Amino acid sequence: MKKIIELKGITKEFGGQIVLRGIDLDIFENEFVTLLGPSGCGKTTTLRIIGGFVDPSQGEVLFNGVDMKNVPPHKRPTNTVFQRYALFPHLDVFENVAFGLRLKKDSNDKRSKKEKEQDIVDKVTKYLNMVGLKGFENRNIHKLSGGQQQRVAIARALINEPQVLLLDEPLAALDLKLRQEMQYELKEIQRNAGITFIFVTHDQEEALTMSDKIVVMNDGEIQQIGTPVDIYNEPINQFVASFIGESNLIEGVMKDDYLIHFDDKDYVCVDKGFKKNEVVDVVLRPEDLDIVSPEEGFINGVVDSVVFKGVHYEIDVKTSHRTYTIHTTDFHEEGKEVSIIFTPEDIHVMEKW
Ligand code: ATP
Repeated sequence: MKKIIELKGITKEFGGQIVLRGIDLDIFENEFVTLLGPSGCGKTTTLRIIGGFVDPSQGEVLFNGVDMKNVPPHKRPTNTVFQRYALFPHLDVFENVAFGLRLKKDSNDKRSKKEKEQDIVDKVTKYLNMVGLKGFENRNIHKLSGGQQQRVAIARALINEPQVLLLDEPLAALDLKLRQEMQYELKEIQRNAGITFIFVTHDQEEALTMSDKIVVMNDGEIQQIGTPVDIYNEPINQFVASFIGESNLIEGVMKDDYLIHFDDKDYVCVDKGFKKNEVVDVVLRPEDLDIVSPEEGFINGVVDSVVFKGVHYEIDVKTSHRTYTIHTTDFHEEGKEVSIIFTPEDIHVMEKW
């Protein structure tokens, strides 16, 4: 895959406040990349630096190997879809999408007016089809739902065929059902358009659903880069584990390279190269744990609460050290004495965060 964007040692200060602390990131052709992290971690600033709306304090942004210093947004091979997409209320759907093409003046373009107009019609039709708005050409913007307006904004941003589309929480204003629908559609649009999408969100589910690659950020730094499966199954630290999916977070000490001690017991775990006596973080995912009778399991406790979640029960088991959360399809009554079991593979051991 061809590398399109390189961020090298990007830092950003706003009036003495450091908001990005050395961001290194490579983005490739045709990728759906999501910048994910809590509010204020620097996602939008990173996106704006890529788009050329904000200059980095230090570091370089390269597009196709070329330094973008002093290259303004409209000269970069990018286009942006913002959360509050400003469509033109006095223009219909067709003209809103065609706007960017009509704006383009190219003195070397020797085609007749008719040929140019046909090209505009062809392209608008292509991108309206792609975002599922075929037949909406003459609709008034006011007569569209929020989701349809968002699709118009995406078609309008795609029509100039940028190499990279930057999307800053474009689904945040939509209600949950529509947002979930649009997640699948956006991924489909990205595949069909064959261009790179860089998507900003603080919603882990959105990131897991759509991305080829997730960049998890916290406090101006990248914590982990990986596929959704990698990030979920192999979180690099407790921050990533707690931000993506649910977790039981525990501190442990290595007794040997494959033996870990927590909550007063030793457990066999997978050898990840940690040294004897090293203090480590442990993550146990609720869906990896099971509830059995007191004599069958490792950690005994009492069922503290039971919540029905549709596909599973979320059960809190109170032990002498902590409360464990467990997802299981079996019902267990509150107050019941139980025990928790798991396999060595379920114990995710990681460096102390
Ligand atoms: P959110 O999800 O809330 O949008 P974010 O991860 O996108 O958060 P940024 O918008 O990049 O975070 O902001 C990172 C930090 O930089 C915040 O503390 C913010 O207040 C600060 N910041 C962003 N833009 C400016 C600016 N123009 N002037 C001063 N501070 C800014």
